[in-house]
Amino acid sequence: MTIERLSGGSDLQAYPPAEKWDDWPEYDVKQWPRRVEKRYMLVPTICFNCEAACGLLAYVDKQTMRVRKFEGNPLHPASRGRNCAKGPATINQINDPERILYPLRRAGGRGEGKWRRVSWDEALDEIGGRIRKAFLEGRRNEVMYHVGRPGHERVMDRILKAWRIDGHNSHTNVCSASARLGYALWSGYDRPSPDHANARFILLLSSHLEAGHYFNPHAQRIIDGKLAGAKLAVMDPRLSNTASMADYWLPTYPGSEAAVLLSMAKVILDEGLADLEYVEAWTNWRQYMADAHPGGEPSFASFVAALKEVYRDFTPAFAEAESGVPRGKIVEVARLIGRERGGFASHVWRGSASGNLGGWQVARALQLLTVLTASVGTKGGTAPHGWNKYKPVFWEEPPGQKEWNELLFPKEWPLSHYEMSFLLPHFLKEGRGKLDVYFTRVYNPVWTNPDGLTWMEVLRDESMVGLHAALTPTWNETAAFADFVLPMGHAGERHDIQSQETQSGRWVSFRQPVLRAARERLGEKHRYTYETNPGEVWEEDEFWIDLSWRIDPDGSQGIRRWFESPYRPGEKLTVSEYYQWIFENAVPGLPEAAAKDGRTPLEYMRRYGAFLIEKDVHGLDRKTVTVPEGAATDPVTGVVTAAGKTVGVKIGDEVVAGFPTPSRRLEIFSTTLKEWGWPEEALPGYIRSHVHRAAMDPAKGEMVLLPTFRLPTLIHTRSGNAKYLNEISHRNPLWIHTEDARRLGIETGALVRVTTEIGHFVNRAWVTESIAPGVVACSHHLGRWRLHEGEGSRWSSPRVSITRQGEGWLLRQLETLGPFESADPDSSRVWWSDGGVHQNLTFPVHPDPVSGMHCWHQKVVVSRAHHEDRYGDVFADTSRSMQVYWEWVAKTRPGPGPGGLRRPLWLDRPLRPADEMFRV
Ligand code: SF4
Repeated sequence: MTIERLSGGSDLQAYPPAEKWDDWPEYDVKQWPRRVEKRYMLVPTICFNCEAACGLLAYVDKQTMRVRKFEGNPLHPASRGRNCAKGPATINQINDPERILYPLRRAGGRGEGKWRRVSWDEALDEIGGRIRKAFLEGRRNEVMYHVGRPGHERVMDRILKAWRIDGHNSHTNVCSASARLGYALWSGYDRPSPDHANARFILLLSSHLEAGHYFNPHAQRIIDGKLAGAKLAVMDPRLSNTASMADYWLPTYPGSEAAVLLSMAKVILDEGLADLEYVEAWTNWRQYMADAHPGGEPSFASFVAALKEVYRDFTPAFAEAESGVPRGKIVEVARLIGRERGGFASHVWRGSASGNLGGWQVARALQLLTVLTASVGTKGGTAPHGWNKYKPVFWEEPPGQKEWNELLFPKEWPLSHYEMSFLLPHFLKEGRGKLDVYFTRVYNPVWTNPDGLTWMEVLRDESMVGLHAALTPTWNETAAFADFVLPMGHAGERHDIQSQETQSGRWVSFRQPVLRAARERLGEKHRYTYETNPGEVWEEDEFWIDLSWRIDPDGSQGIRRWFESPYRPGEKLTVSEYYQWIFENAVPGLPEAAAKDGRTPLEYMRRYGAFLIEKDVHGLDRKTVTVPEGAATDPVTGVVTAAGKTVGVKIGDEVVAGFPTPSRRLEIFSTTLKEWGWPEEALPGYIRSHVHRAAMDPAKGEMVLLPTFRLPTLIHTRSGNAKYLNEISHRNPLWIHTEDARRLGIETGALVRVTTEIGHFVNRAWVTESIAPGVVACSHHLGRWRLHEGEGSRWSSPRVSITRQGEGWLLRQLETLGPFESADPDSSRVWWSDGGVHQNLTFPVHPDPVSGMHCWHQKVVVSRAHHEDRYGDVFADTSRSMQVYWEWVAKTRPGPGPGGLRRPLWLDRPLRPADEMFRV
């Protein structure tokens, strides 16, 4: 394994060479100026502080066998040795004196703050017994697993399918469901994978240089692209750090982004910059013509004319009026994009897609530019994510479950992309079902989701949630309302397979418990990871295996067999065997690379932590497929089928793989939207957001609140116990434009009340020109709190009270942050007193009627604080929040759809049940 040398012909290396990872000397910084050498074993693992899965190297002190620090793993194909601040801060999380080290069982009412330590056996027996009873009584839909940070590939699919439940819930509908649906409707793949490093023009609807999705791997490749001459444009109402580095900042009014993108498409079409040959060959334009202009043989020229007509009104002047971005700038950027055929890379993930009603059309409109410039899957273009992502397979796959859980996929949202997860408490309150056993896993809906106080009400109610087990490495606001708090490992204390579409290329990486791996390198043998973790911290893989055996101790339910070893029939699977089988059998090229290195595949991954399966993946849609005997070609669509299955699509004279859509082409015209009740949105379009200017009443002082942006140094709930990170970032003031501040008589630091549809929060103002007039912004990464002593991290979370006030609840901070006594001397040096303000509690739910995504942006009124207000106050009326929920339910167009289907068979969904369950 080679590691890059520093430039300039130096002998110095940027990173310790892999051949010295068993014994690496460094001077002990604490002994300075004395030169006291320490010797380390370097063990790779994967960061768990965001979804990007960057490589880390743990420096294990060979004398104490404790982790001294985490740095980057230079052999990781995506992060290439680099990390953001959150990677090295993993050491804080591991050494946090406030962390949970033992299983806890509630000893009072739920949420009362009384706990007793229990054994793992007690916890597993009670939870396993309760699940077994539910299964034996046919109540499979009462068991649900709800995940915040997934952090592993496909393992939960296998477990929940083995349990035969439709019980997977995720956080996706408060994160990326909208953008995902937009991409999925185009190509069948729900994420983009831009090749930034080779792009000639990059357009970001995000803040990727500081925080966006796959932040660090993307940021370094955007800079690679820029250094090679690419131009960068950023569409963001805020002057983010990313926008400040762009060649073009397009400060769009929130929700107007699709109008600007379609205006750019119009420029590209009108000025003859589009690659029409590509559009003709690869889009399903014939289906559009057959639908919109039936009768007669459609010509491609008539389609182009029809398309121009559809987008006739999206003039740069219209886009300027909607967005506030000068029309000249929109035209200039459109021309630059249009000239870079094949080299246009772009990304939208949260931001405008997750903020607005109809945000999924932002992704549809952005992808239209990618298609018009023939940049789909090219070098320097934007590929479907599936081309660049590895997914493991197993020695045995349980079949799809014969269940359909209406708490996850209800009839109102037949096209929802992922589960309607943030509406779970509303569904339970309405009596749509109940839960007997509910797992939250690295998930904190009381704090992260909108309308968190409704979550609190439901979690307190044992008639709605029978048993709540929180699997978490840290305390969080939701764990406080659990029956069991079960401590799970941080990065470096657990196993996972990780692979993300960070670049053009496919890689796999291995998160592993570094102390276990270090000890095993020394020849020790360990059956369980908790043997080497601190306290009694488990890892989830071993938890689920053990729990499954307790649910089905004698194998009579047909569950246990899926958790038996592929190497020792009938015996309990070990975590090492699980990964051993995958690495030996299911990672192309790994066994050969490992053999060359004189290791087994598992040893190779334990040693280096990552493997590049394939680099520079392009053009998989054009891959020729073998056509079986008797195959038929549809004369209109060119789709080739054999034995009832689609095998490819005829493009020109060749049958190629195409895309996993019904037409096998890129669906500029979505027959799915047309057939499932949204015909007016079947082409990429512009839906006026719920915060469109027309919905604002300036006489009432209404403004738009952007609550979605990340801080580069924090990550939702998990960074609350990282002292380095909280020292850097600990307040989230309200960004407000100078003109608005002047109008309201507000100065920087002034206390302001921000009133939403269901309540208000009290924060301090930051007066700035980095935000548009009429728009305010507040990062969602701060404002942690704890109700009781011992239930949260004192680095970040002041104690609060939550008291009834009319139909609502008032949360009030009872203390400021400050020094505290603990095993870590740094806790007595905490100099910051502010932990920020929790705004999400004041947001009602806004489920988009198509994608199901929570539309995060809020219509608010900002005023100077009232005399009774205190910094950090949060008030929310949960009766009113139910009314807002029903107002949004009324916007839906419920299923079933064609053929009595609950949702289209071709659109994937997590934990896909048996096909027959799609029918009502
Ligand atoms: S971007 Fe930062 S937080 Fe995310 S995985 Fe990489 S190092 Fe960790």
